[in-house]
Amino acid sequence: MGALLAERLIRDVPDFPKQGILFKDIAPVLQNAAALQEAVSLIAADAREKRAECIVGIESRGFVFGVPVALELGLPFSMARKLGKLPFDRVTEEYALEYGTNTIEMHVDAVDPGQRVYVIDDLLATGGTAAASARLIERLGAHVCGYGFLVELTFLEGRKYLLGYPIHALISY
Ligand code: AMP
Repeated sequence: MGALLAERLIRDVPDFPKQGILFKDIAPVLQNAAALQEAVSLIAADAREKRAECIVGIESRGFVFGVPVALELGLPFSMARKLGKLPFDRVTEEYALEYGTNTIEMHVDAVDPGQRVYVIDDLLATGGTAAASARLIERLGAHVCGYGFLVELTFLEGRKYLLGYPIHALISY
């Protein structure tokens, strides 16, 4: 994986958004067209292999990678958004954070029953967000056929919450 262009560009920002967190800043990857194209193509190849029929991106950096993947594959794109952002009828899932909870939502018509849905975010940390997305998709009668991430923080063991789902991460720390 060492040859991936994005790997050299991801920037470590210590103590953001709070003390003790090492933030993986992917902004420089977006500023480099070759690195972005490479990352999008690799995630798209995995989604194609998983026979995805729909791409779901998790707000907000999951949108940045999810939309070009959907376009590359000619697939529909749907959003999993933070609480209070979606205007139409929606399903809601809460998940635990280190302190407190977070909530994500999807429109009730974001995916079709029986559809194979591939979920994209920039980074897999504890897995809470990704697992909540799967619950939303499954409540709507669709299936998660795989997850695609640019980065996985393996020491946080997010995969534990995603047992049984194929996970493709381009870069692991
Ligand atoms: P989690 O639910 O813990 O897997 O968190 C995943 C979400 O939080 C993703 O949308 C990431 O963008 C963001 N995130 C969590 N930890 C980090 C980190 N160390 N650096 C950058 N983004 C992070």
